[in-house]
Order: sequence, then structure tokens, then C-alpha cells
Amino acid sequence: MGGRLTEDHIIPPGQGGTDDIDNLCWCCWWCNTYKGTQTAAPDPHTGNVVPLFNPRQERWEEHFRWSRDGTRYCRITRYE
Ligand SMILES: [Zn+2]
Repeated sequence: MGGRLTEDHIIPPGQGGTDDIDNLCWCCWWCNTYKGTQTAAPDPHTGNVVPLFNPRQERWEEHFRWSRDGTRYCRITRYE
């Protein structure tokens, strides 16, 4: 299952999300399972609860950058 992409509801159906294309994105099975029905989570740097990245409304390069050693993609904290 690790390499397959799954269809993810950005806003979960139980929270009013629809099957409209603007509410769907591809997500790997592990990330989709981990995300579950969350739409926000605590920022590990500030502890503030912030919205999860929305790939339909936000630009990837404004929110993520490579780690210094080039092995990971890291979220840029915007909500401090
Ligand atoms: Zn993933």
C-alpha cells in the first residue's frame, strides 16, 4: 500500500466536505491514514493549532522547503 495514491477529502465528509474536485486531492495511503479527519494540527514549533496545508488553495513552495541536508521536505512555519 505504501506507494499507492489514495483520494483524500481535504475537508472530510463528516465536517461538510463534498466530493467536488475542489475538495479532493491525491494523498499517499500513509499520510491519508495519519491525517484521518483532521483539518488542523498543532505547529511543532509554536504549539498553536494551525490549518493543514490545502493543496487546492495554497502554493506548495510557499509552505515547504528542503531540509538543510536535502533529505526531507519541511513545512515553513507561517503562523507564529
Ligand atoms: Zn505521504
